[in-house]
Amino acid sequence: MEILKPRLITIDGPVAVGKSSVGRLLAKRLDYIFFDTGMMYRAFTCKVLKLGISPEDETRLCHLASTTKFDFVPSHKERLSILIDGDDVSSELLHPEIEKQVSAISKIAGVRQVMVSGQRRVAQRGKLIMAGRDIGTVVLPWAELKIFLVASAKERATRRCKELLEQGEKVNYNTVSSELKRRDEIDSHRLISPLKPAADAIIINTEKLSLERVVDKINALVVKLDSRSSPAVQDDTEGQ
Ligand code: C5P
Repeated sequence: MEILKPRLITIDGPVAVGKSSVGRLLAKRLDYIFFDTGMMYRAFTCKVLKLGISPEDETRLCHLASTTKFDFVPSHKERLSILIDGDDVSSELLHPEIEKQVSAISKIAGVRQVMVSGQRRVAQRGKLIMAGRDIGTVVLPWAELKIFLVASAKERATRRCKELLEQGEKVNYNTVSSELKRRDEIDSHRLISPLKPAADAIIINTEKLSLERVVDKINALVVKLDSRSSPAVQDDTEGQ
């Protein structure tokens, strides 16, 4: 039987909760495209830092955002990458200085407006999984399936340290943990589009779950949606 899948799936959640890993694996399984909107904010921050503009100079940043060209190109089979003014800066996006400034720049209304309209352009392609902070609430509130991932700050910091170690980076748990909490704090308390679950999002606690198990759960929700139940289903696969 052919499964009638939702066209758009959103995955929101705090820093290092696994949105990208989950989104990528889910996209592979469903044969969808995955787009990580955090990369857009990071690419813009990269441009701001290269130009030496202060992250506090809202007027210049709004103007800069509105004159910046974002293109979205397939990188791996199931993923979209960003070109900013024609340049691929993806190898620079995890730089600590970008990490430090990105949340302050992402608070600015005029910057977000440009990002959201780019993200909606991407969504027109359909069969898409989009990850971020405000995708279910603001960017694509009409998405058929909305997921909000949660895990304790301790677990997320541990996972981020492991990731960094695997990439051959030097790691200090306390620095990683305080940076993660600092960004969450700004992202959750900003006036525009704060990090929060949409009213109809399904919240999945990934604390004790493997990546595959989280993806299994979302996959089960996709199948459940197809059986025409309400989109506001409970995560009753919890604990199975
Ligand atoms: O997801 P990632 O950690 O790469 O996102 C980097 C930053 O970009 C976040 O901490 C947040 O400040 C911003 N962001 C956002 N809205 C999104 C995605 C990311 O404000 N939809």
